[in-house]
Amino acid sequence: MEVLSQVEIAFWPALADSKKADLEAMPKGYIDAALINGAIRTQENLEMVRLLREKSKLIVAYGACAHLGGIPSLANLYGREELLKAAFGDGWRPGPPPGAPQEDAPPELLPKALPLAQAVPVDYTVPGCPPPAGLIGEFFSAFLSGEMPPPGHVFAKVKALCEECPRTREERVLKKIVRPHEIVPDPEACLLDQGIICLGPVTRGGCSAACPSAGMPCTGCLGPTPKAGDMGLSMVSALASLVRAGEEGEAAIPSENEILDQLVDPIGTLYKYGVPDMPCAKEGEG
Ligand code: SF4
Ligand code: SF4
Repeated sequence: MEVLSQVEIAFWPALADSKKADLEAMPKGYIDAALINGAIRTQENLEMVRLLREKSKLIVAYGACAHLGGIPSLANLYGREELLKAAFGDGWRPGPPPGAPQEDAPPELLPKALPLAQAVPVDYTVPGCPPPAGLIGEFFSAFLSGEMPPPGHVFAKVKALCEECPRTREERVLKKIVRPHEIVPDPEACLLDQGIICLGPVTRGGCSAACPSAGMPCTGCLGPTPKAGDMGLSMVSALASLVRAGEEGEAAIPSENEILDQLVDPIGTLYKYGVPDMPCAKEGEG
């Protein structure tokens, strides 16, 4: 509410009755900052963000979907036709419903969901799913005071989430992998030490470790640290160094490969928000 008293809302379709024509009528650079959330999934999304880029001095990727592609980008694992058939059945056909005018046709899907930066140049990022209040506050404090960091800044910590996590890491050994519903974790010990895949070692801090503090693993919504770069590859590397099979006399502990095979849904776990940044997706194979 404090922010709202200091800005004028130029365009906010979710809240006010604003139309594309209103945006088109604005002069270039009329808007000081456009905060854009959501992945770019349709041709219409693409047109709107290109228009917003033209009308705005700053473009801010707001939230994990605009930042990384987000959960909707998991659909990039499937082809466009496959998705439409899964949603609407085998009888699905392009265009408007039978008998309806052409303007009732649903917006055309792009071949893949894109993070905002793959559609238009992005100046700043406020990450998270949803962005934590503290990081939103940091952005608006900087924006309203006119003291913005250099372009490209991500409003989250450079250091990994583990550094702000209240859980204690002691064992640093992975002898099994379990899903969160399969055990009742110790309330104070590191979740990764207990076999739950927590992406804290490779995720930016900035949320006060909200999920591990509440007993759930971090799924990486603030995006990878600059050091981690590729979240999935870095986490695989971390897991490979942590995993330890049974030593002599510990026959009950399976081999290292068997332990790593216990990771169910590797892509959904390691790239939950970042399928467009997977190495094979970048090479156009994903
Ligand atoms: S629970 Fe997760 S965030 Fe916390 S120390 Fe362990 S790996 Fe890091
Ligand atoms: S703990 Fe991880 S998934 Fe949860 S809010 Fe923080 S960065 Fe996002």
